[in-house]
Formats: sequence, structure tokens, C-alpha cells
Amino acid sequence: MELTGANSSRVGRIRSRIGVLGGTFDPVHNGHLAIASAVFNVLELTKVLFVPAARPWIKESGVGREVSSINHRVAMVELAIKGREGYELSRVDADRPGLSYSVDTISDLRAEYGHAAELLLILGADALEELPRWRDPERLAQMCTLVCVGRPGSGLPEDMPPDHPGRDAQFVSGPMLHISATEIRSKVAAGQPITGLVSPDVARYIEKHGLYSHDHEGKR
Ligand code: ATP
Ligand code: MG
Repeated sequence: MELTGANSSRVGRIRSRIGVLGGTFDPVHNGHLAIASAVFNVLELTKVLFVPAARPWIKESGVGREVSSINHRVAMVELAIKGREGYELSRVDADRPGLSYSVDTISDLRAEYGHAAELLLILGADALEELPRWRDPERLAQMCTLVCVGRPGSGLPEDMPPDHPGRDAQFVSGPMLHISATEIRSKVAAGQPITGLVSPDVARYIEKHGLYSHDHEGKR
């Protein structure tokens, strides 16, 4: 049926709902894919953007480990989402010089998608807990819709203190997978299999490039 008059103008007002999953993705794993899928389905998103951070500020604040090069991390995201409809790579944080902050991610994506788009920042519950330490967390919470997905070991938004900027985040329970990139890196370093933790293409990429198997984990 052709849409005319009132119907077509209503169609014109439909907002796209864009999920934004930022991270270090060192490497991207099945936990990331599972939370993207949960939020995509439950909140009926238009798409989910995977946004690898060139220089994640949180990982440069004294953790000590060298993060793999952004090119490796982007390549692994591309392999992991290949052929999955609704998932896209965004290079906004890969291409911006300096440390990567989510307020800049959302500003750049707002400029790219305009005000007709709803931007939903997807955070694992551990990331939500850390939100007060992020740059301009109150402003960030006003610039987008915060969505928290459950992660084993971390609490619900409503468990946060009253002044916590993520207390009003929407909550999606998600599949609660015990998967972390930290665990994957240590398994590779110990020569153990990572089957079922990352996609087969990502596992092959890690092996081919020798990521995580040495002290200077995959730096190039
Ligand atoms: P690392 O162990 O190196 O910190 P990670 O597995 O936490 O890696 P990140 O790239 O730090 O992965 O995470 C990006 C985002 O994905 C964060 O918001 C994080 O909370 C979320 N996330 C990662 N793994 C899970 C999981 N298993 N369940 C829920 N959220 C997750
Ligand atoms: Mg993490």
C-alpha cells in the first residue's frame, strides 16, 4: 500500500534507534555479541554500532598492560560482525586523536545521525558501576539513553547510590555470560583453547597474528 498524506508524515517522524557499544574489544568476544543481540531484540533497535576505542582512557590509567593496536581490534570487530544484519563498525573512536571518551563518541555520532535518531549507549553492568569516574558522566547521561546489560558480579542500576549518573539507566537482563577479554587473553597466553568464547574467524585472526601469546600482547 502506498503511504500518502497523514500516514507518510507519520512515517517521516519515526526515529531510528541506534545502539552504541563502545569498548576496547581486545578481543571482541561472544559476550559482546550476546549483549548487542539482547539489546537489539528487547529494545527493537535499528542497528548496533560497535565502536572500538583507539586509546581507551580507562585502560591507560595505570593498568599496565599494553592494549593491542587499534588496527587489530578493528579487524577483529569486522570479522565478528561480518554477515550479521544490524551490526556495524563505527570508526569514530578509532580515528579521533587522543584518549577516547564516551562523551566524544556520542557527540560525534549525534553530528553524524542528527536529532531524529535516538542514541542508546550500551554498557555492561561493570561499566555502569564505573560511570562516575568517566569524563562528564552527568552530561553523557543527558546526551543519550543509557542502557545497562547485566554482567555476572555486577549490580543493577537501582543498586547504585542515589547520586549515581547511571541509576536511571534502562536495564536489559541479557544472557549473563561469564566471558571477558581478560580471560581470553590469559587462555591464549597459556596455550589453552578459546573455542566458544570468540567467533571462529576471530580465533583464527588471533592465532595468525600471534596476539596475546607473548608478553607484549599483540602490540605492533
Ligand atoms: P577486559 O576484560 O579487557 O576489560 P571486557 O570483556 O570487559 O574486556 P570490554 O571491551 O572492556 O570487554 O567491554 C566493552 C563493553 O562490553 C563494556 O560495556 C562491558 O561492560 C561490556 N561487556 C563485555 N563483556 C560482557 C559480558 N560478558 N556481559 C556483559 N557485558 C559485557
Ligand atoms: Mg572491560
